[in-house]
Amino acid sequence: MRVELPVDVKNIIETLEANGYEAFAVGGCVRDTLLLRVPGDWDITTSAKPEEVKALFSHTIDTGIQHGTVTVMKNHVGYEVTTYRIDGEYEDARHPKEVIFTANLVEDLKRRDFTINAMAYNDRVGIVDEFQGIQDLEDKVIRCVGNPKERFSEDALRMLRAVRFAAQLGFCIEEETKAAIRELAPTLAKVSKERIAVELVKILVSDHPEEIRTAYELGLTRVFMPEFDVAMETVQNNHHHKYTVGEHSIVAMQHVRPEKMIRLIMLLHDLAKPVVLTTDDRGYDHFVGHTQAGANMAKGILRRLKFDNATIDFVYRMVKHHDDRPPMDNMALVRRRISEIGLENMPMMIEIKRADILAQSDYNFESKMAYVDDLEKAYKEVLEKNYCVDKKDLSVNGRDLIAMGMKPGEEIGVVLDLLFDIVINDPNLNQREKLLERANKLITPFI
Ligand code: ATP
Ligand code: MG
Repeated sequence: MRVELPVDVKNIIETLEANGYEAFAVGGCVRDTLLLRVPGDWDITTSAKPEEVKALFSHTIDTGIQHGTVTVMKNHVGYEVTTYRIDGEYEDARHPKEVIFTANLVEDLKRRDFTINAMAYNDRVGIVDEFQGIQDLEDKVIRCVGNPKERFSEDALRMLRAVRFAAQLGFCIEEETKAAIRELAPTLAKVSKERIAVELVKILVSDHPEEIRTAYELGLTRVFMPEFDVAMETVQNNHHHKYTVGEHSIVAMQHVRPEKMIRLIMLLHDLAKPVVLTTDDRGYDHFVGHTQAGANMAKGILRRLKFDNATIDFVYRMVKHHDDRPPMDNMALVRRRISEIGLENMPMMIEIKRADILAQSDYNFESKMAYVDDLEKAYKEVLEKNYCVDKKDLSVNGRDLIAMGMKPGEEIGVVLDLLFDIVINDPNLNQREKLLERANKLITPFI
């Protein structure tokens, strides 16, 4: 079997070989090429020590010298070149205590997580597949290299990575590997939240976000997102739903684009339902207040997982408004809601709402969808007619108010809020002359 190496990768390997070292493309790039997928990046493994690698190339970066990694730059692309290594004993199922360089490729392949990630290739030797990675690719199986329990005890993150590769590739986790995860899942708690978040996002944006279910079944979500476990175990006894809260969230994710923000929103949007659940005399479930509670809960989860503030704030806002349904005979209220969501976020909100409905029961399906169509029309009208739904777009601003005699200060904001209310109610009043006239009346108490 041949792997078509990019010319720069070929060059790096040939340079190393010409100087008496071994070098191979390794890991994800070999796996992806064999699957006819486009590799995200090309990693190289070599018998050369980091200093020896650095001596051979004009432009290198010390990416992780202590772990044996040097980045070689070629045509503005970086290639990680890592010395063959054996990972020493792991501390806390997290960091290898020490890294030992080795002259033996197979020793390096042995430390890798899964058989499909433990293959190497160069043009001279062909594919090195010591652990039946090709067979597992054919069988669509995620299997640990060596003893799964030992491998997960070295680095607990590998358990979540197993689910991640299953999600990206549409593979199944092999039984013994699975059994080891079930047993060792609680040790995922030792892994940093940042590393967990990276794998979680990769699961969510994959072709198979439903694999989060596997993470639940194996006891992994319980460690970093127990709210999701509760949702998986909460049935929704009302006309609108046919799934548990958790299953509803999974199906909703499947109905949106594979993009980080919207998949996170679908995952989290209803997670507060179990908390606010009330059941009436007829045995009918209600979830009053689940949107605000859900926004708060989403914020808590994302903070805990060390997501950045921009992501947290955006998800919070969209979860809070995901179930807004202003009546269509009150366009002022519709514009008000659009202003709260943000005009630029409306296409995503519409996608969220459609996915939410598609993950519910058939009850009132047509009319629910028709409502979203109407909302979309209303949004497009705001867009086309250039209606003001953002305070920044008022035709009168703070400077105007000061020019009219107001003193700089908080009251400027109060007047602008009032002007905004006026414009939300009647968009045609957002013309400078008209709005200045209104402003004039409004500011009299303030000057
Ligand atoms: P992608 O880059 O598409 O996410 P990948 O397979 O390249 O997939 P990386 O996380 O970039 O994944 O890791 C590169 C390679 O390093 C893997 O293919 C695997 O051989 C090895 N590896 C990465 N993380 C671990 C780990 N925690 N334990 C053991 N081996 C690992
Ligand atoms: Mg990679």
